Amino acid sequence: MNFKDLSLEEIISKIKSKETTKEDVFKYFLDRIQKYDSKVQSYNFVNENWLNIETDNESVLAWAPIAVKDIFCEKWIPTTCSSKMLEDFKPPFDAFVINNLKEAWFSSLWKVTMDEFAMWSTNETSAFKKAVNPWWTNRIPGGSSGWSAASVAAWLAPAALGTDTGWSIRQPASMCNLVWFKPSYWRSSRNWIMAMASSLDCPWTLTKTVKDAALLYEIMNWNDPLENTSLPGKDIVDPKIWEKKDLKWFKIWVPKEYFEEWLDLWVRKTIEEAIEKLKELWAEIKEISLPMTKYAIATYYIIMPAEVSTNLSRYDWIRFWYNSDKNYESTDELFINNRTEAFWKEQKRRIILGSYVLSAWFYDAYYKKATQVRTLIIKDFEKAFEEVDAIISPVSPSVAWKIWEKIDDPLKMYLADAYTIPASLAGLPGISVPAWFAESQDQEKELLPVWLQILTPRLEEQRLFEIAYAFEQATNYAKQNPKGFED
Ligand code: GLN
Repeated sequence: MNFKDLSLEEIISKIKSKETTKEDVFKYFLDRIQKYDSKVQSYNFVNENWLNIETDNESVLAWAPIAVKDIFCEKWIPTTCSSKMLEDFKPPFDAFVINNLKEAWFSSLWKVTMDEFAMWSTNETSAFKKAVNPWWTNRIPGGSSGWSAASVAAWLAPAALGTDTGWSIRQPASMCNLVWFKPSYWRSSRNWIMAMASSLDCPWTLTKTVKDAALLYEIMNWNDPLENTSLPGKDIVDPKIWEKKDLKWFKIWVPKEYFEEWLDLWVRKTIEEAIEKLKELWAEIKEISLPMTKYAIATYYIIMPAEVSTNLSRYDWIRFWYNSDKNYESTDELFINNRTEAFWKEQKRRIILGSYVLSAWFYDAYYKKATQVRTLIIKDFEKAFEEVDAIISPVSPSVAWKIWEKIDDPLKMYLADAYTIPASLAGLPGISVPAWFAESQDQEKELLPVWLQILTPRLEEQRLFEIAYAFEQATNYAKQNPKGFED
């Protein structure tokens, strides 16, 4: 049986109705990984032992396979964060969200590669495999959850888990033509997911359809007593939201600051067409202003490295992994040798920057000020949401760029985060749906996916699903697939 072109939901229903078996599904995707891995550089580890586990067909996920970003700890399964620092690390625990998925019987077939420690945006910085974009293999798949995105786009997995700190689910999913979803910050437990910047990190999903995103949302969101930011209880998705065919009564606003000069012309045109489509669905569309947007990148690139420098301080070999062969005469020298060899330059850059903004002399000027501006950004959104149901914007100012194009220019790369970072700082939920394709602005003029970001107020995830589903049903953009992966 061919499982390509089926959503996660459809695969599960075929297993449950006994049209197929979980073993067949597993082997099908395993064969595809083996066939296409040399082309797209996919996984750090494949968990073939899974076939020996006894399961039951009535469970929610019926053992449908899901690709897991190599940042989620899975008990005794190598979890490396694509860094030499954790090359042989096998965690003694499951991440809380992995545990939730296990209770619903998912199968974690492979650990997929990512940007080292989830920093950067292109998947070029993994210490192991560097994934490419299945649409055009000379281009980046986005990052840091780049291979989570590429694996679903190339049909090597029906869905994938990723993490998003500033844009790491949203941008790769968009660059590979998938649905990304991230709930409000407080719906997630970060327990036993390698930390990047703890006040921003948000684990969630990359899927082919909005309904698949909702299915995994319902399983993964749950109170974690060991995570002090996790909300009590569980949010259950109301099945009535799938009945609505239009967007009558929805007020959707477009922030004018997101359409300024750095937005690529073709992406802009595509988003404007998507806005017309929303109008055809009877949504009321207006322009608003989010004046604090212009400070978001500066704020993020102070708060995030401050938290990175704290979180990465645990990787010193004494408590964690990598051990240099070089001789050393003091503990300081041992730390220096290990960190010099095992981290890539971006981790070092962020540790240095973070330590600087947290130092006693500069704390007030940088870190404290950034946290105050963060509050203003939150207030900006709160004010807008007093009048509207949702905000829409592009995800990325350009389509996927070429491999190596921005590797030596971190500033250029940071600027690409402009449309996703404000929502991360405010902890807002978001989803995106395909908005058709745009031409790259280089000589190749290659057609690449463009996606529409939808944001709602905190804890309004169901409204997101409702809007995204109506748009998805009214268009067929998500049904387009990259060439070269047809069996
Ligand atoms: N571009 C962002 C960064 O490098 C993305 C990181 C993320 O969301 N994990 O910080």
